[in-house]
Amino acid sequence: MLELRDVTVRYGRSSPAVNRVDLDVGRGEAVGLVGESGSGKSTLARSVIGLVEVSDGEIRVDGTPVTNAQGRTLAGVRSRVQMIFQDPRSSLNPRLTVGETVRESAAIDADEGRSALSAEVHRLFERVGLPPELASRFPHQLSGGQLQRVAIARALARRPQVLLLDEITASLDVSVQARVLNLLRTLRRESDISMLYISHDLSVVRYLCDRAYVMQGGCVVESGPTDDLFASPQHPYTQSLLAAVPVLGGSRWRARERSVR
Ligand code: ADP
Ligand code: MG
Repeated sequence: MLELRDVTVRYGRSSPAVNRVDLDVGRGEAVGLVGESGSGKSTLARSVIGLVEVSDGEIRVDGTPVTNAQGRTLAGVRSRVQMIFQDPRSSLNPRLTVGETVRESAAIDADEGRSALSAEVHRLFERVGLPPELASRFPHQLSGGQLQRVAIARALARRPQVLLLDEITASLDVSVQARVLNLLRTLRRESDISMLYISHDLSVVRYLCDRAYVMQGGCVVESGPTDDLFASPQHPYTQSLLAAVPVLGGSRWRARERSVR
């Protein structure tokens, strides 16, 4: 569904932020992208939806080349691929109620009447586990976890094939984080949406994803099934990332598993 071939992104003359990366996400697959801050994860995701220019290589979505797309091709990518960012407060319009935000997104590709759109907004709120009464609230009246659900509802309103999730739980409390992750697992089960889940936290990636890529300094240094990455990391960098993660089966991981049941 999403293919990157030998993709390089440079900001100005500095060394590449993304350096000759190959990456695939299959239909209905959840794939992790891990790496420390500055390793190029966000740049990679942004390049898919044309927020940064690709210097070299090719990107395809569902087989269609979309590298540095413009015009109608770009509009097509931006409806089929939805990106969700770390900070929902800065990605939602503070002057619209959250219901209006989701409705606007749902209205883009639809020519349904008002009542059909209202029903769709209601359905989307329920799908992401938000009480539909919250639709009349403004972003500043909601918690971080609720806002991230609104951002997910807004993305789903476009009926995307691919979700790019960029550290979307990084600013949330662990228990709220667990509930958002649980929602993503449910979405995976109930749809064939493809996800690229970006995080610096390997344990979260393992919870959600079957496969992951590890980035360092713009390059993919290791990739494979998340269970294998955990059991026998090959690259020293992956080993050091794992060493930084709370010990497997440690209290933080157990707390997370308990609270998502
Ligand atoms: P990550 O998401 O893994 O933290 P980023 O993709 O944000 O990494 O950044 C990768 C590299 O690109 C870093 O060295 C960062 O400083 C640089 N970078 C990111 N955004 C810009 C930008 N808009 N202009 C110049 N350099 C940037
Ligand atoms: Mg980032």
